[in-house]
Amino acid sequence: MNDSISGHVLLLMAPSGSGKGVLLESLGGLADQMYFAKTYTTRKKRKGVQENPKYQFIDRTTFEEMIDADAFIEWADFSGNLYGTAKADIIDALQAGQVVFKEMELQGIQQMKEVIGDEHVTVVYIDAGGWDALERRIRARASISDEELEMRKQRYEEEVKAKEIADVVIENKDGHLAEAQEKFRATVQAVLKEVKG
Ligand code: 5GP
Repeated sequence: MNDSISGHVLLLMAPSGSGKGVLLESLGGLADQMYFAKTYTTRKKRKGVQENPKYQFIDRTTFEEMIDADAFIEWADFSGNLYGTAKADIIDALQAGQVVFKEMELQGIQQMKEVIGDEHVTVVYIDAGGWDALERRIRARASISDEELEMRKQRYEEEVKAKEIADVVIENKDGHLAEAQEKFRATVQAVLKEVKG
């Protein structure tokens, strides 16, 4: 498949509480120059949370039918839920030389690299510090049960593994948001320039 690809995939790996939302907001007009790909997931919608508009919430049977039909370019089981990127959603954009943007966890990132080739993939990891710092942020944002917090911690331990394979690590430690935003913007701009000229 990678012979016909002139575009690029920009994958964002951002543990919960790492400040992904504010970094994305800081992209401004750069966001308009990218194609934001869809996520199919069997996860339930979270109550009282503004979900990513690119998420399509589907049941497990439908997801499994899509797997059987070879509809996914990558998919993963993360924390008991299935997540995947449909070939049909991104193939035109990749062949048309677009930068496709997507949030993804580690297993999906590894599959994407394998299928479309390392040279067509840039992985950005947002590092907001260790678990202690994330826990502080998560607690400050909303009240959360001990059980949910423990689940987030387990997820974090999975997510942090992606740091090792990231092409760019954005440090987003407390008090350094402006620098993080600047580095994120510069990274996206560099990829856009490289791919689209
Ligand atoms: P959440 O349930 O918090 O929305 O997402 C859980 C994890 O799945 C996050 O690390 C997120 O980046 C990742 N994710 C979102 N969409 C996809 C996808 O289409 N494929 C894969 N492999 N991971 C995804």
